[in-house]
Amino acid sequence: MKTSSYDVVVVGAGNAALCAAMSAREQGASVLVLERAPIEKRGGNSAFTAGGFRMVHDGLNTIRKLVPDLTEDEIAKTDFGQYTVEEYLDDLARITQYHIDPDLAELFVKRSTETVLWIKEKGLRFQANFGRQAFMHEGRFKFFTGYVCSVIGGGLGLVDGEFKAAEQNGVVIRYKARATSLLRNDAGVAGVRALIDGVEEEIHARAVVLASGGFEGNREWRARYLGPGWDLAKVRGTRYNTGDGLQMALDVGAQPYGQWSGCHSCSWERYAPDYGEPDAKTSGQRHCYQFGIIVNGDGKRFLDEGEDYRNFTFGKHGPAVLKQPGGYAYQVFDAHGVKFHRSEYKLRGATKVQANTLEELVQKMGDVNPEGFLKTVREYNAAIKTDVPFNPNIKDGRCTVGLDIPRSNWAHPLQEPPFEAYSVGTGITFTFGGIKIDTTTRVLDIADQPIKGLYTAGEMIGGIWYFNYPGAAGLMCGAVFGRLAGQEAGKFAKG
Ligand SMILES: Cc1cc2nc3c(=O)[nH]c(=O)nc-3n(C[C@H](O)[C@H](O)[C@H](O)COP(=O)(O)OP(=O)(O)OC[C@H]3O[C@@H](n4cnc5c(N)ncnc54)[C@H](O)[C@@H]3O)c2cc1C
Repeated sequence: MKTSSYDVVVVGAGNAALCAAMSAREQGASVLVLERAPIEKRGGNSAFTAGGFRMVHDGLNTIRKLVPDLTEDEIAKTDFGQYTVEEYLDDLARITQYHIDPDLAELFVKRSTETVLWIKEKGLRFQANFGRQAFMHEGRFKFFTGYVCSVIGGGLGLVDGEFKAAEQNGVVIRYKARATSLLRNDAGVAGVRALIDGVEEEIHARAVVLASGGFEGNREWRARYLGPGWDLAKVRGTRYNTGDGLQMALDVGAQPYGQWSGCHSCSWERYAPDYGEPDAKTSGQRHCYQFGIIVNGDGKRFLDEGEDYRNFTFGKHGPAVLKQPGGYAYQVFDAHGVKFHRSEYKLRGATKVQANTLEELVQKMGDVNPEGFLKTVREYNAAIKTDVPFNPNIKDGRCTVGLDIPRSNWAHPLQEPPFEAYSVGTGITFTFGGIKIDTTTRVLDIADQPIKGLYTAGEMIGGIWYFNYPGAAGLMCGAVFGRLAGQEAGKFAKG
């Protein structure tokens, strides 16, 4: 069998893996990255993102370090807010219903800002997310939460920049290279076995970093762990995350950790292809529901569309839609709501109907009960506290009163034609189940003892996400733990 040897092997080539590879090189280790995908589909789910990082910041002072080319005009008309360690930790605790591992949460929050600045030092450029994370309202932008900056070029810009920086620093990358198992000797993990372009190879290494994502791309595991119906969900991102790294770790005694029955999943174009495309032009996301209502086939609302900022709610909508009769729903807007639509609503692939009356709209939807729908809209419109001013940049408290399914913010009567309805199903982003690590990213066995030579990062870490997830925390978490895993694996290998 073909063999080769490196100090550190990194399995996967998304954001977490590439951060690990770059930081292992900083320790002087020779580093090989194995990417299962071919070069043109490289970068995992990280390539599908908007490139956004949720980080601790103190407003303009921090944002300017990341985005030095902000204009004076942008600065004058923007409130960047701030996001303290305490606010970030509070959000994580609340969003995960207080299940998040507190040691891991603290570690990734406290290292968030320095890690984004480290990525910038590697040559990546950032921008402030005007229009997506802050609306122009009464002449000013106001950012909602800790998600202010993203990499220019989005997810593709992020991974292209990281691949470039890694290769410039001497990291070796092999494509169509699927790791299949871990090698072991008396000292612990000693490398990986992989199928590279169909040929089996043993790669010996002092340390292995597993960063090959979750199992969202694996229909059979989805049905097995997430439950009935999840085999039918569309995958928002890469097809290559099928749980290989998790299986490899479990096979050497790693401890399963976190919510194996949970995932991040949102409303997604109902007739989208089975897997995503890392190109905003074909995105199936529908992220402006807080400016309309969502109804099922009975014409009934089934969740509070304005419960919180979009970043804190979109990850819960997928399971809610999956549970509806037929597994579909419609996002419905009037002309006021349409004003807030992001570009994805205007894409060719959107399943959309438009009409000048609600009666005509529901006929065009085709599979929504007309009486149920018209009753829902009538009751919803009548229940809105219209005396509370509407403000898209804050939780404005413009709510409904007396409805079974409440509406907490940004409520606006559906009354101004033209009306639009978008049909959505469920799109899965990533799975929450993972393996247990200590605060230096060493993989732990069932007795909480480290498995020597084995580290992990990114979505493979268990114990972080439960029930929900705050937007832009995935890349942040992957970068912090990836960087740390590379550092530790590099030190271990060189020591
Ligand atoms: C459409 C979409 C939009 C998103 N937007 C955002 C956002 O704006 N901000 C944010 O923070 N998060 C976002 N996320 C979530 C984010 O993508 C993840 O949290 C993050 O990218 C996970 O990084 P990772 O490195 O752990 O995994 P990934 O980036 O998925 O990388 C996994 C890698 O492992 C490889 N691999 C799998 N199996 C093997 C194997 N056997 N051998 C070798 N390689 C293997 C894959 O090919 C891939 O390269 C989004 C996700 C999606 C799908």
